[in-house]
Amino acid sequence: PVPVICVDGPTASGKGTLASEIAHRLGYHYLDSGALYRLTGLAARQAGLEPEAVNEAEIADLARALPVRFGPGRVWLAGAEVTDAIRTEAAGMDASRVSAFPSVREALLKLQHEFARLPGLVADGRDMGTQVFPFAPLKVFLTAGAAQRAERRHKQLISKGISANIASLRADLQARDARDTHRAASPLKAAQDALLLDNSQLSVDESVEQVLAWWQA
Ligand code: C5P
Repeated sequence: PVPVICVDGPTASGKGTLASEIAHRLGYHYLDSGALYRLTGLAARQAGLEPEAVNEAEIADLARALPVRFGPGRVWLAGAEVTDAIRTEAAGMDASRVSAFPSVREALLKLQHEFARLPGLVADGRDMGTQVFPFAPLKVFLTAGAAQRAERRHKQLISKGISANIASLRADLQARDARDTHRAASPLKAAQDALLLDNSQLSVDESVEQVLAWWQA
């Protein structure tokens, strides 16, 4: 079987940075499952569909046949590069809205499973350990305080030349966490067998070392 490491946690907890670095160190594949929900939200917008319940079936159809291609640090939707377009706060909010639809989650399962190829996979998201790869031998649930997360998201956006306000970022990420935690379909929660890692006071390297130590134990 393909070894899978799951890294789940709330918005801007540093999952992407941690998971992609671990994938890099181990030579494993990397799945950014949030990107799939962001792409689905974008595909819906492009099709003129609001991310609302009345459009659930149509949005699930789009998700099932998502014309997506991933390259190192880049992503294309129907041949057009959307690497930056899916990273805006609005795209994150749309992602959170479409991800609450059970049929969308179901539609994206197969695509996510296809990422599990030898020599191994590191998958980041909200439900990697609970729903998508429940048999993964290592599940990490990553957390950090809301202030730290807002600050990190702020730095990330600034580095991309996107201006942002820390207070509104913090409000956004808390709204997104609330929706992700309270929805009926695959709510954000740690798997029973997940190991908790609070990285508020840790550097990226320290977090990476901790997860690798768990993996090698
Ligand atoms: O991780 P990221 O911020 O890119 O995810 C965007 C949104 O997609 C999240 O707020 C969440 O609602 C949704 N998501 C999800 N399940 C995942 C990954 C992301 O519901 N496995």
